[in-house]
Amino acid sequence: MNILIAKQKLQYFMSVRADNSDLLREQYRAFTRQMPMMYFILLSSTWALATTHVKLAPSWLTIGIPAVFTVGCTLRVAFWWRTRGVDPSPKVAHAALQRTNRLAVGIAIAFTLWSFSLVPYGNAYTQSHVAFYMAITVISCIFCLMYVRSAAFIVTVIVNGAFIVFFLASQQPTFIAIAINVLLVCAGMMSILLTNYRNFERMVVSQQRTEALSNENLLLANIDSLTELPNRRAFFTHLESELEKAKITGTRLALGVIDLDGFKPVNDLYGHSVGDRLLVNVSKRLTDSLKASRAFRLGGDEFAIVAPIIPDDVQLVANANAISEQLRAPYHMPEGTVHVSASMGIAVFPNLASTLEQLFDRADYALYHAKKTRRGDAVLFDAEHEKQINIEARIEHMLKQKDMEKELSVVFQPIVDIRDGRANGFEALARWHSPVLGQVPPDQFFSIAERAGIVSSLTRPLLKTALTAASKWEPSLRLSFNLSAHDLNSCEGVLRLVGIIENSGFDPQRLDLEITETAFAHDFEQVRQSVEVLRRLGCGISLDDFGTGYSSLTRLHALPLTKIKIDRSFVTDLHKKPASYKIVKSLLTLSRDMGLECVVEGVELPEELEALEGLGATLVQGYVYARPMREPDIGEFLSQQSSKRMVL
Ligand code: C2E
Ligand code: CA
Ligand code: CA
Repeated sequence: MNILIAKQKLQYFMSVRADNSDLLREQYRAFTRQMPMMYFILLSSTWALATTHVKLAPSWLTIGIPAVFTVGCTLRVAFWWRTRGVDPSPKVAHAALQRTNRLAVGIAIAFTLWSFSLVPYGNAYTQSHVAFYMAITVISCIFCLMYVRSAAFIVTVIVNGAFIVFFLASQQPTFIAIAINVLLVCAGMMSILLTNYRNFERMVVSQQRTEALSNENLLLANIDSLTELPNRRAFFTHLESELEKAKITGTRLALGVIDLDGFKPVNDLYGHSVGDRLLVNVSKRLTDSLKASRAFRLGGDEFAIVAPIIPDDVQLVANANAISEQLRAPYHMPEGTVHVSASMGIAVFPNLASTLEQLFDRADYALYHAKKTRRGDAVLFDAEHEKQINIEARIEHMLKQKDMEKELSVVFQPIVDIRDGRANGFEALARWHSPVLGQVPPDQFFSIAERAGIVSSLTRPLLKTALTAASKWEPSLRLSFNLSAHDLNSCEGVLRLVGIIENSGFDPQRLDLEITETAFAHDFEQVRQSVEVLRRLGCGISLDDFGTGYSSLTRLHALPLTKIKIDRSFVTDLHKKPASYKIVKSLLTLSRDMGLECVVEGVELPEELEALEGLGATLVQGYVYARPMREPDIGEFLSQQSSKRMVL
């Protein structure tokens, strides 16, 4: 049994491990680096020994054999020199190391026999040289073969074995002492070598692990853990390389960015786990609907598609719409059937987008348009959009100029109580007359200012102006003022608004601040807190454009609202459109049930007004009463109103 284990151990030491390719490669590299030095030591020691024997031994022994050794070793070094730059495959490295083992046997036997053959010719000095030669050479070789443990072991066993047997047999006490000494030194060296080799092996294995780990990390860093789609980081890397390829090959490249419509309500209504599962299902459908293109999750409910081979624009949009249609089909979940749609913006390289940033920005711009005008469909960025972008860039530039507030003014539109025809208050509406651009519509410049993050620099002077004007009104009149999403996005911004209201001297109880549902699309909690602060100050909070957003009622309930404003789109022709009529009716009921006041916006016709009266609406705003007016005209409007009432 012991013999068997010893045999196995010996085999283990004598052979080269083939199971770890990195270890093999590292061994090969380390060994080949040291090999020329080993041959140099071997040959220089050999020729030194040959020289001390040149006059004593026959020349075939002192010149012939060393010359043969020199040629053999030189050939071996030359072979190494030729292949030194090559990174070997594990198979080649294994074969080379096995060959080294076999060569080690041959070389150890040859050099040992040669040195022994010189012993009979010399005296005590030269015999000591032989002993010294063998000892020093074997130690040097062990060093040089440190990383090919098997070869080092073979050389040690052969040379030392022969050395000990030979010198013990000489019965010369000095030689016996040298033999024992060398044996002990070599044993010590072998143990150091084994430790070193183990450390080397461990180092390679730990390097392997680190590499595997960093590969895994790299993979994780590029994959979205929920949907397992490549993530935003992978998207930009992929887009960059595809763009480079398209530039070189002169081909087209399409980028589609997708945003789900109606995802937030699902999340709100069913909870995040259903929302997460929905995103997984959307990802699956998206991947299944693609052939040569790749899908990515950019974050939240945003996805992207990079399509390297694209047909003409018409076909491209048709394909994109087909994808949107697949995503629109109902999602059956244990909790219920869920409906979402997918709006998509597409931009194509090189048409109208030549850089990565442009491609992404323009696809995003097209998406913004899809969401606004063609929800659930695909919109391709076109020349018209480009023109629009240029106009918007000019507007943005002008908005950022110094003294911009001097070009702003405020007009006021009355909100009337239909029961007595009296103005309940006025909504302040901004106007911008630019000397360069002329009159710019407020919804246009506010959305640009919002996107550019500079809207608060407009809100503050407008609020001051509106409050100054309203301070002159009789106390029964209220002021409504529109706030943008960005105004509520930071505590600091809200506190500045509070400061303006407090400094104006206008009673906050008479002020209604209008917000739209888009304001809390991003950071609901922050907006809720901001609204809370304004509410505590005494201001009323109106939800503007009610019915056009997609927020769930639970979410709205979390806000301290005082009023809702029904959007004009439901009011137009409501006396002729049963659907609009029903919607307005239920919105009025809803507001009553929620204990909120309700303003119906955009009433243009007496027929609409009549229908609203029938539905029990009280507060109305629209051209039917008055268009927005300049501050000096308010007095006249109010006096006309009272004279009208007197006539009635
Ligand atoms: P909004 O807050 O919904 O304001 C009502 C808009 O409807 C106003 O347009 C008003 O002139 C218009 N309107 C009122 N009655 C009628 C009607 O009977 N028929 C029609 N067709 N329109 C009517 P305006 O002044 O062009 O403002 C457009 C939007 O710009 C506003 O919509 C609001 O979102 C934004 N905006 C205006 N002023 C400000 C402001 O000071 N701050 C912020 N953040 N946004 C503002
Ligand atoms: Ca408004
Ligand atoms: Ca409105």
